[in-house]
Amino acid sequence: MTLLPLSLNFDPATGLIPNREASSRYLSELSGCFADEYACQTMLSRGDPLVYGVTNLDLANGEGQLHYGLGIIRPGKVGREYFMTRGHLHAWRPAAEVYICLQGQGMMILEHESDGPASLLPFSANSVVYVPGYTAHRTVNIGTQPLVYWGILSAKAGHDYEAVGRRNFSQVVVELNGQPTVLQRGEYGRMIAKGVA
Ligand code: MN
Repeated sequence: MTLLPLSLNFDPATGLIPNREASSRYLSELSGCFADEYACQTMLSRGDPLVYGVTNLDLANGEGQLHYGLGIIRPGKVGREYFMTRGHLHAWRPAAEVYICLQGQGMMILEHESDGPASLLPFSANSVVYVPGYTAHRTVNIGTQPLVYWGILSAKAGHDYEAVGRRNFSQVVVELNGQPTVLQRGEYGRMIAKGVA
């Protein structure tokens, strides 16, 4: 019998687990993620907001074991682009993941490593998203409350942020006319350049 805690309590409102430290991601650590670099630098000149946190529960390792983590993304935007995670592929590419949303209004961006368009999926309280293997994934908070969710995956999966960091995701989720709107990254870039976003 293992000594790891088989049962834990968590707070779906705060996205925290008592006596477990969350790793925090501040805007300054997310350079290159958000499309509007000028808006990003302007925000950073006034402070360094917390964008998201994850409490990783990597309690067991080895074949057949699972890791899981409780994520919380704060509400906010950089320019018109909603606060979101950096996004990643799994180091062990075949590893899938299940995301379960507990609170808030969000979307997930799924993009296969080598082919096909991105999938933009609704991801709000009481929804679940299956992330297949070989698929980069990013979580976006499009609401006014924190977005709180679980991710559950193979203990072997690991995280690869580099591949996503080099090319980023092909689509962005931005507020246009007061509504969350999905745009091609280049399209949003042209709007920024023309000063219409
Ligand atoms: Mn993952």
